[in-house]
Amino acid sequence: MTSLDSTAYTYEAPVSADLFARGRGIIPGGVNSPVRAFQAVGGTPRFMVEGSGPWLTDADGRRYVDLVSSWGPLLLGHAHPAVVEAVTAAARRGLSFGAPTEGELDLAEEIRDRVAPVEKVRLVNSGTEAVLSAVRLARGTTGRPLVVKFAGNYHGHVDALLASAGSGVATLGLPDTPGVTTGAAADTVVLPYNDVAAVEAVFAERGSEIACVISEAAAGNMGVVPPLDGFNSELRRLTAAHGALLVLDEVMTGFRVSRSGWYGLDPVDADLFTFGKVMGGGLPAAAFGGRADLMDQLAPIGPVYQAGTLSGNPVAVAAGLTTLRHCTDEVYAHCDEVAAVLRGAASAALFAAGVPHRVQQAGSMFSIFFVPDERQVRDYDDAKTQDVSRYTAFFHAMLARGVYLPPSAFEAWFVNAALSGEALDRVLEALPAAARAAAEVDEHRTGELGSERST
Ligand code: PLP
Repeated sequence: MTSLDSTAYTYEAPVSADLFARGRGIIPGGVNSPVRAFQAVGGTPRFMVEGSGPWLTDADGRRYVDLVSSWGPLLLGHAHPAVVEAVTAAARRGLSFGAPTEGELDLAEEIRDRVAPVEKVRLVNSGTEAVLSAVRLARGTTGRPLVVKFAGNYHGHVDALLASAGSGVATLGLPDTPGVTTGAAADTVVLPYNDVAAVEAVFAERGSEIACVISEAAAGNMGVVPPLDGFNSELRRLTAAHGALLVLDEVMTGFRVSRSGWYGLDPVDADLFTFGKVMGGGLPAAAFGGRADLMDQLAPIGPVYQAGTLSGNPVAVAAGLTTLRHCTDEVYAHCDEVAAVLRGAASAALFAAGVPHRVQQAGSMFSIFFVPDERQVRDYDDAKTQDVSRYTAFFHAMLARGVYLPPSAFEAWFVNAALSGEALDRVLEALPAAARAAAEVDEHRTGELGSERST
């Protein structure tokens, strides 16, 4: 085991290690979503048993300050009392009806009231499902085949959108995914993010074939790379000029970076929006929505089929609705403030340790790129210039000090409203040592971290 740690935290996680070994025998890679496996950073993924406010407790009984927040949904922190109460009450009334409930209307209206161009909403179970449904609707209503997406953007594991995807695909450095047909791949055009000229060129060449352009409202799946000023509105202009739809994917940013998501910070009227994460409050709920005339093309009133046994599940709806209703202005202000404190402290610690880096943000979402200079990271090619081994060292030093960061250099850090006091102090205290670990990466690479990573 390593000696990266000089605090009460040791590196051993024997219970998690046993569970991981057992998991690998029954679940591919021992996990149900790839980035959880710690493959990019090495070591033993921590099996969690409890979450409370800003804290996570693992199966070995260690507590961590959580800067992943379930990859975004837990804006209020873990097990927020009002959310737990609403979920419990809903569960007592019945787990699923397969028939409409009033709560679904409340949640749909809550979304509509926050994002002005959204006139109608349909609830689904995951961000992936929201995106694939929105893309089908775009193709179905335009009668065109092509989808334009941007490298490093992740829209869930939708066949047509896995090409040059961010998130786990970037983390694992995967080439195009087997299992996606050449036909599906041929109907997807991948362009560099933040490159208006590339979008203009593809419209000039194939404009009449393009059903939609889909873009993360602000990219957070290659690390955080916000759109350059005017990028989203240029997408709006070009799609409208060519009769294509604009789909802005707010699964990650929606209701996280403001009460109206990225739309609240950069109001571009897309035809369709996709949502997930925060609006499910930690349970499986997601949505897509947009112009009523488009949404009304969905079955049962329109020809574009889309359905789901558990869509609008009453327990998930209770979690999402209660979460959104508790996301007050104070919650957003607190998250913005805490994120600013963490960005500043992380950057100061890295400068002090002499580690080249760049911190980028989209509202309260942020990430650190261990890039060789301070130039802005604008696209996936830029993001890939980072030295991921520095992140690995940084990540493990933080983990050893009881701070749970995303186990990948290509993911955003997600704060939550419960992060304050002792929890915040712990992160701030851990940063200088983690920065030194990132500075000393070559030593660690050949030393003890190597043995931990091979476990
Ligand atoms: N779209 C974006 C922008 C995402 O960040 C994600 C997941 O991280 C998805 C879609 C897919 O959502 P889900 O994992 O709920 O299927």
